Amino acid sequence: MAVKIGIPRALLYYQYFPLWVTYFEALDAEVIISSETNKKILNEGISAAINEACLPIKLFHGHVMDLKDRVDVLFIPRITSVYQKEYICPKFCGLPEMIRHSIGGLPPVIDAEINFFESRRHIKDTIYEMGNYFTRDRKRMIRAFQQAKERYQNYCRQLQKGKIPSLELPFHMYREPINQKQLPKRILIMGHPYNLYDPYLNMDMFSILTARGIQILTPEMVKRNEINRFMKSYKTKFYWTFANKMIGTMLYHIERGEIDGVIYISTFGCGVDSVVADIVEKTMREETSIPFLLITLDEHRGEAGVYTRVEAFIDMLEWGRKDENHISTHGQSVHSSQGCF
Ligand code: SF4
Repeated sequence: MAVKIGIPRALLYYQYFPLWVTYFEALDAEVIISSETNKKILNEGISAAINEACLPIKLFHGHVMDLKDRVDVLFIPRITSVYQKEYICPKFCGLPEMIRHSIGGLPPVIDAEINFFESRRHIKDTIYEMGNYFTRDRKRMIRAFQQAKERYQNYCRQLQKGKIPSLELPFHMYREPINQKQLPKRILIMGHPYNLYDPYLNMDMFSILTARGIQILTPEMVKRNEINRFMKSYKTKFYWTFANKMIGTMLYHIERGEIDGVIYISTFGCGVDSVVADIVEKTMREETSIPFLLITLDEHRGEAGVYTRVEAFIDMLEWGRKDENHISTHGQSVHSSQGCF
């Protein structure tokens, strides 16, 4: 019988699921993805995680709870670095320990370190560590990884072309309609992939916008070499991959001048965004006349507040740009008396 491996549908799952799913399936594992985020998963994650954790980390705990009793092994990689000389947020490095500390009754955990800062030898060791649970044949592991890498690269190319991950990942990879170039207004939605592509977490922001006839652009649509081009000459050097991606995306779009507005989706407790969202907002305000809206999601949710702000933002774009300086931005209405936004 195939070994069941559980992959939590959270954090960088939305970025790397084609790589992980293809790799494990090529080794004949049965891949089980946690359920789509829902109220129960969110609440269980909040109860299990330490208070100080950011919302996406709490949500990850909920997805582990959803999976732990129905799989033989869990995949919780320690993602340290995915680009040379850059790091992912420190919370990813300690994620396996955080989960082990907070949640009892876990099956064995594959917590291989993913660190592209290291040598090629290290990457090979990671591939072996991930595959050891399913086979001892190292050549087979390398072949599985090659196959997974091709599928992942194709996924990245599709996202660059304007596609948006589906609600039914991993079985249907892209959402339709995907790229509506004929639409008159274009909004760049910024944020970490798990904030953008988990519709429960962001109250299905893509549907709100597409229902209003807005063309959506995302950071995944900007090629890495474009990000590097802008960040090479940027005044500050960042060691966080997320910071380079967000700021590079912003500079790319400022140069092209083809967007009508920016919505930045952040989450409560995110240290990286507390710096990066601030830089993006200041730059947009000082160097452009493009309206900017920051939405900070927290664990209390508050759909009505989010809908109202986004609808008002779209209305304002449709009226024209004359009132753009009146848009509510970071800190002005993030937390209302209802608890959020
Ligand atoms: S980047 Fe921000 S949201 Fe993501 S894990 Fe780190 S602190 Fe949390």
